[in-house]
Amino acid sequence: MGVWKYELSSKPESVLGVTLGTGIGGGFVYEGDLLRSKRVATLEIGHMVIEAEGPACTCGSHGCLESLAGGWALEKWYSERTGEKLTGAQIHERARDGDKEAIFLYQRLGYYLGIACASLANILNPDTIVLGGSISATFPLWQDIYEAEIRRRAVPPVKDTPTTVSTLKEAALLGASALVEQALTR
Ligand SMILES: [Zn+2]
Repeated sequence: MGVWKYELSSKPESVLGVTLGTGIGGGFVYEGDLLRSKRVATLEIGHMVIEAEGPACTCGSHGCLESLAGGWALEKWYSERTGEKLTGAQIHERARDGDKEAIFLYQRLGYYLGIACASLANILNPDTIVLGGSISATFPLWQDIYEAEIRRRAVPPVKDTPTTVSTLKEAALLGASALVEQALTR
């Protein structure tokens, strides 16, 4: 919502926002309105099941997107595979320095995010997908595999949905303020 209001000057009709951080969340803005129910304002994208028998998730389920591509999963996998406990920022640095393990994990993350975004795009048919959150800065490391999965899995008109990375800082905060403003002006 923050991205839609403050960043996207063309004001597309529909935007799927995906926040990639320790956890994964998102929102769908349609004609300037955030899709929401009385109970929840965001899409629990992080708990969309991608692998039915996948790793245990913090929510009690298995194979959620977050358990395969969230920041906490990335840190867990890196430590399991190398014996080193690093933060997401450190793993990113390693990947940029050519660490094969770190690069592999980002590729894996991109693969799962591509599957998830292809499914979401099939359902919501957004004009554009906007990635935000700390991990979106690592997009160049996994953009190819992510886009390949979208092309492979999305239905024909949806295949070409563009994905961009938000450069807006504090997008969530701005989104919240945009929502309040919208509520007050109706
Ligand atoms: Zn979960």
